[in-house]
Amino acid sequence: MGSSSKKTPQGGGTLRFVVHEHKATQLHYDFRLEMGAVLKSWAIPKGPSMNPADKRLAVMVEDHPVEYIDFEGIIPEGSYGAGLVVVWDFGTFELTEPGDPEVQLKSGRFAFTLKGKKLKGGFALARFARGQTGKEWLLMKKKDQHANPTFTLKSELTPERQKTLAVKMPPCETS
Ligand code: MN
Repeated sequence: MGSSSKKTPQGGGTLRFVVHEHKATQLHYDFRLEMGAVLKSWAIPKGPSMNPADKRLAVMVEDHPVEYIDFEGIIPEGSYGAGLVVVWDFGTFELTEPGDPEVQLKSGRFAFTLKGKKLKGGFALARFARGQTGKEWLLMKKKDQHANPTFTLKSELTPERQKTLAVKMPPCETS
């Protein structure tokens, strides 16, 4: 993870994703896709799932800078997003349909394949047609050979892992 990750040319098809486990006021999972020069970001209260039967609410939040992709640490009290952040999963993603990812995202339906350590195979994000804020999406696992109907999300914020975290200011306001 980090600076050794391969940068691909714009439109090259392979871009990075990360899922941050974020124990702020409420524990949630931040799903972030590298797009353009930013991380498109969604806060998922229940976290992603490998079970196609799970449709997970994903609330779009502000774009984050790409430098945030491998952030881990303890965001100090009084700072935006104060709490613990670890990388829950990371890897690359590819669009299911060729084209401009930002145009596809704007359409409200976005299909992609993840190559992560935990999240693998086809996924889709679909924006609520009648959402209250226009920020509500659903993250869904596609039925494929990677689907796991018995998937249960395991926290990476174990007591051991928490001990390894240092107080650190993120390069941006985080959500
Ligand atoms: Mn967050």
